[in-house]
Amino acid sequence: MSLSPRHAVYVGSFDPVTLGHFDIISRGARLFDRVTVGIGVNPGKSPLFTPQERVELLQDVLKPLANVRVECFEGLTVNFVRRCGASVTLRGIRTLTDLDAEFTMSLANHVLAPDIETVFLMAGEKYSHISSSLIKQIAQLSPETETDPLNAFVPVEVIEPLRAKFRNLR
Ligand code: ADP
Repeated sequence: MSLSPRHAVYVGSFDPVTLGHFDIISRGARLFDRVTVGIGVNPGKSPLFTPQERVELLQDVLKPLANVRVECFEGLTVNFVRRCGASVTLRGIRTLTDLDAEFTMSLANHVLAPDIETVFLMAGEKYSHISSSLIKQIAQLSPETETDPLNAFVPVEVIEPLRAKFRNLR
């Protein structure tokens, strides 16, 4: 089967989706005809949001981007990319630490699937400090105020579901 060079797949945990992820996806959606966002489901991990909740949150946040769709997958990224009929994996780079890990992963993926290329986008300067794990700590430790500090980190659609998770855990 020939794989489309105009279709990119962006994978991650998205637990939850952040403004940094949204920035990479919207820039990817301008560079490629189609972008598939793949939520990696790892049975060994216990995420804050269930796979179904993450699909719904991402679909809500990505509604303005008509050429982007969202799916869950298990197993190797390259197998998911191939199943999608795509030939590009899109990744975001925030720091030198990301670069190191991403470089190793892209080399391994290239051995597994030489016909699939990894394309890297540098994080936007406003978002390079943002990670899902940092956001979960802020949500857990910061009080709920009218102008929620989480607005600086996650799309507005994520704030209430994220606050609700920690309310339910208290
Ligand atoms: P994982 O938990 O599997 O590392 P993430 O959902 O955190 O997955 O990240 C998926 C991809 O998005 C990775 O390429 C990661 O480097 C990138 N990424 C994460 N946060 C940001 C950000 N703030 N800006 C740009 N890229 C990011």
